[in-house]
Amino acid sequence: MILHFVRSSVGISSFFGLAESPPWASQNRPESPATIPTVEMGMDQVIHRTAVHSNNDLHFRIPGHHMNTTFKKLSLCTQIQENLAQKGYEIPTPIQQQAIPHLLEKRDLLGCAQTGTGKTAAFALPLLHHLSEERVRRKPFTTRVLVLTPTRELAVQVAESFETYGDGLGFKTLQVFGGVGFGPQKAALRKGVDVLVACPGRLLDLKKQGFYKADGVKYFVLDEADRMLDMGFSREVQRIAADIRKDRQTLLFSATMPNSVMNLVNSLLTDPVEVKVNPVSSTAEKVEQRLCWVMKKEKRELLKILMKGQIQNRDSRCLVFSRTKHGANRLVTDLAKVGVKSSAIHGNKSQGARQRALEGFKNGSLPVLVATDVAARGIDVKGVTLVVNFDMPVEPEAYVHRIGRTARAGAEGMAISFCCEEEFKELRQVERVIKQSIEVDYEQPRHAETLEAQYKSKGVGRGVGVRQGKKRSPSYKPRSKANYFRSGKKYHSKPGNKRRFAPA
Ligand code: AMP
Repeated sequence: MILHFVRSSVGISSFFGLAESPPWASQNRPESPATIPTVEMGMDQVIHRTAVHSNNDLHFRIPGHHMNTTFKKLSLCTQIQENLAQKGYEIPTPIQQQAIPHLLEKRDLLGCAQTGTGKTAAFALPLLHHLSEERVRRKPFTTRVLVLTPTRELAVQVAESFETYGDGLGFKTLQVFGGVGFGPQKAALRKGVDVLVACPGRLLDLKKQGFYKADGVKYFVLDEADRMLDMGFSREVQRIAADIRKDRQTLLFSATMPNSVMNLVNSLLTDPVEVKVNPVSSTAEKVEQRLCWVMKKEKRELLKILMKGQIQNRDSRCLVFSRTKHGANRLVTDLAKVGVKSSAIHGNKSQGARQRALEGFKNGSLPVLVATDVAARGIDVKGVTLVVNFDMPVEPEAYVHRIGRTARAGAEGMAISFCCEEEFKELRQVERVIKQSIEVDYEQPRHAETLEAQYKSKGVGRGVGVRQGKKRSPSYKPRSKANYFRSGKKYHSKPGNKRRFAPA
């Protein structure tokens, strides 16, 4: 059985590298790897998108009349056009086609599109165009464009994109985030910058110390907007937004947008345009998703088997998500014991270690990266072939983002999620958000048959719209007010009371 799996795992690698398909991953695979199904855009246009490789860069080709929509037609300034041509970008992706014209007209915008479909360029290009139109002197401690991101790695990446797309325009881009010294960030802010990409906590620290002033900000972007507006960040983001002039242009982008953040979204935008490419929270089309039913104690063994098989293919690059930092470290040790070189990236690691691990993963010297959800959003590493959810994510939206680290820019990829009994609730939430059931892999060597039956019996079917009740012991009887009176305990009827049933 194990042998079969190892062979299968190698097969998975070859599925990505070559054309051969593994026995345990073959069901329902799309026939033609070159055609992504339909992409819905605004105004009820349905288009087909194909992706082709050329000079190691990916181009989105859009047949039909959209084929004529090139970057040249988007009236971006000449230098930006040249930079795009140099990068090999010819055709704007659907989110770029839809968003850029509105952004050039300085409208506020809420943009939702799947992971890996070019959202960064969708906001960076028109903003660089605005900056080039309004040539003004940089003022100390200010910036004209402010982009907020949830993680340091994403801040680095977004800043790099601004630099690449704006090459030759002479703009100063700066990234600021915690975990590194203040000195260079303060020195750069003292002179003023054109584009500031920041994590909220550090930006507020810099503001407190007088090194950042909001009065120069004309363009305000929230990348991964739903994450920036959820409980973890929303206070900080609102404080930052409150300082910025009201006539700013505000741009919010993400692949997911739960209803819980919509009030805040609306409070930040003025007369916005909404651009949605595909239903919100839909997973990237070319990710093949699989679910492994596995007992909790067997998960580590299953991962070792899978990873050993994967690294036999030199081109494979695997990202493993763990729920906890400690768990991530433990997996790195486990994998080392079976000869799989990996590194962990999470909030307890120094910024240097995080950046080194990501660099190693990017340049291919590290075939496996184990991460917590710090790496779930936005990170764009070319050639990630497999994402493993060793633990199911606590927030269902994180699933969409995690698996979106593969199959980017029209490439293919695979996502395998391990699910044990304790994670039924998380799986159900995920399936509800993505509005589909994940296909089960029955061939994997640690398949726990009983789990599927248990999962099904605990809800009415799997996935969409299913609610799971709280676990009760068989002897549980609901308590009524009358029972409490009978038991002689005092009943507090005032709803404001913390404990309505107090001991007598
Ligand atoms: P993003 O979703 O912004 O992280 O972008 C995903 C990937 O698509 C990145 O590697 C970009 O370099 C690439 N990309 C973005 N726009 C285009 C385009 N118009 N043509 C080809 N590749 C693109």
